[in-house]
Amino acid sequence: MTDDKKTPAPKAPVKIAGAGPAGLAAAITLAHAGRQVVVHEAHQEVGHRFGGDFQGLENWTTKEDVLSVLEAQGLTTSFDVVPSHNGTFFDARGKCHKIKSDEVLFYLVERGPGSGALDTALLEQAQSLGVEVRFNSRLDQMEGEGILAVGPRAADAIAVGYHFETDMADGFWAICDNELAPQGYAYLLVINGRGTVKSCMFSGFKQEKLYVQRTLEAFQRLVGLEMKNPKPHGGSGNFHIPHSAYSGLHPLVGEQAGFQDTLWGFGMRLAISSGVLAAQSLLNGEDYDTLWQRELKPQMDTSVVNRVLYSLMGNRGYSWCLRSLSNKTDLRESLRRQYQPSLPKRLLAPWAKRRHESMRKDVSCDHIDCHCIWCRGGCCDD
Ligand SMILES: Cc1cc2nc3c(=O)[nH]c(=O)nc-3n(C[C@H](O)[C@H](O)[C@H](O)COP(=O)(O)OP(=O)(O)OC[C@H]3O[C@@H](n4cnc5c(N)ncnc54)[C@H](O)[C@@H]3O)c2cc1C
Repeated sequence: MTDDKKTPAPKAPVKIAGAGPAGLAAAITLAHAGRQVVVHEAHQEVGHRFGGDFQGLENWTTKEDVLSVLEAQGLTTSFDVVPSHNGTFFDARGKCHKIKSDEVLFYLVERGPGSGALDTALLEQAQSLGVEVRFNSRLDQMEGEGILAVGPRAADAIAVGYHFETDMADGFWAICDNELAPQGYAYLLVINGRGTVKSCMFSGFKQEKLYVQRTLEAFQRLVGLEMKNPKPHGGSGNFHIPHSAYSGLHPLVGEQAGFQDTLWGFGMRLAISSGVLAAQSLLNGEDYDTLWQRELKPQMDTSVVNRVLYSLMGNRGYSWCLRSLSNKTDLRESLRRQYQPSLPKRLLAPWAKRRHESMRKDVSCDHIDCHCIWCRGGCCDD
């Protein structure tokens, strides 16, 4: 008699290129389901391009708190967080607008390989589930089952400034002024004697140094910015809603797909969620495009409309916007509504998409005789 019930051959490990939040979230989801996973990371550590940066894990796109969402996705929340309920904004005339929210607006997290950082926590969870992470392993070709998660491939926005030590009290400050951060915002974050100050610009990359200098001067004047041991830091963001987020048979996740918050660049949650969805598509044999278009695209489409409206506002519009935000008592809910699809935003979407596409071809960085962070770093040297 022949043995018809042979044990099926074990499936080959799933390969993942990139150990950022997107790649690690995908690896953890696959490992939870019992799949073998090998993550290839080009650098010697996680979060290399951020090196101790502080970032905000936004808490306004879902009704549920972001930490509960991560837990429901099977992801660790064992990284250090500083819940942020308030902050101080300035308009171009230096007028102060204080914002305050009863509920957490965002959680400040550290990025990079440090203890307590988001990237470290995800790495440790992945490894504890048996995921093999190969450092200094740049993957340029993918064969077999795999997910591509190598971060931004183009720069639609850049954030440039410094990391530093300081005696300043903890806080979060931002300035909306096109003379410091064209179509974006400048920000200053201080936690436990460490800080980051950046100009986050959506245009005018060639004048990066000028905008950073103006940002430093403005924060010195407005809040007494003091920096000890400043170290330059910056990076780029890729904002794009693709028709399909597959490269051949391989799902693209996080910023490699262009998934970002086009309005302000809070991309971590989209990176993580797209990683989880790509893993689920491999596990369940579902079409990844169907999943992300259902779960993530409505919010990203709205974010494009928000971006185009914001970029048209100018300094007077920002000032009006800040005044109305500072009067809100339910700020988190107001922001959440701004990120949800609505009839007016659906109607504006085709116009906004066309306009956003043409802004992406902005000649403010034509890569010729340019020394902005994008041209210095290049797309592949993150
Ligand atoms: C200065 C700055 C501030 C930001 N602030 C915020 C914020 O406050 N809130 C927020 O939500 N988002 C913020 N963002 C955006 C957020 O950091 C990104 O959206 C998020 O990190 C994207 O995750 P990812 O996994 O797609 O890519 P990444 O985090 O870039 O990870 C990609 C990984 O792939 C690796 N890699 C690259 N090429 C290869 C290859 N060929 N083979 C193997 N590995 C490779 C890289 O080394 C990297 O580790 C900020 C971005 C910048 C630049």
